[in-house]
Amino acid sequence: MKDYKSFSIKFSLNDGHSPNRNPTKRMLSDMKGMYLDNRSFEKILEQGNICVYEFYELEIPRKSSDLSFGTTIIYSGKVGTEYFMTKGHFHEKLETAEVYYCTKGHGFLLLEDPEGNSEIQEMTPGISVYVPPNFAHRSINISNSEPFVMFFVFRADAGHNYKTIETKGFRKLIIEKDGKPIIIDNPKWKD
Ligand code: MN
Repeated sequence: MKDYKSFSIKFSLNDGHSPNRNPTKRMLSDMKGMYLDNRSFEKILEQGNICVYEFYELEIPRKSSDLSFGTTIIYSGKVGTEYFMTKGHFHEKLETAEVYYCTKGHGFLLLEDPEGNSEIQEMTPGISVYVPPNFAHRSINISNSEPFVMFFVFRADAGHNYKTIETKGFRKLIIEKDGKPIIIDNPKWKD
């Protein structure tokens, strides 16, 4: 175990960012096809390619004995009635879980397993959520004004499978109706 050294890293409680590190950015153009309303998507994109969310990834060895962690910052916005959100993913190693801890903003964590069980957890600062093995997860910012920030930890060798969600989508969507978030069945979901 001599190869390992402890380290510390700052993630701001104010905005989730870490000084002297570069987050991975997901721009609106990276989200093509992930929103229900393609026309609204193209309209917003015409006005400029804005950042939907960003996250910090650490260079941790991808071993089952290691843990990876960081923050995700999802900005406030909507495509049509659908809130800004992460792509969402399964872990390549389905049996690996994850923990999220909200430090800022207001959002939902949408969970779904391959058998079709959906779960939703509401998150505000101080709330932590356990994402059990087997569940795809997506973070959704339901605030109309401020970023939604979460700290996460998962097994470093979990891996990310984005493809399944990019192809099929989630069975449920969170959209805004009469100024409030509601859950609907995804009409574009493919079995
Ligand atoms: Mn994950």
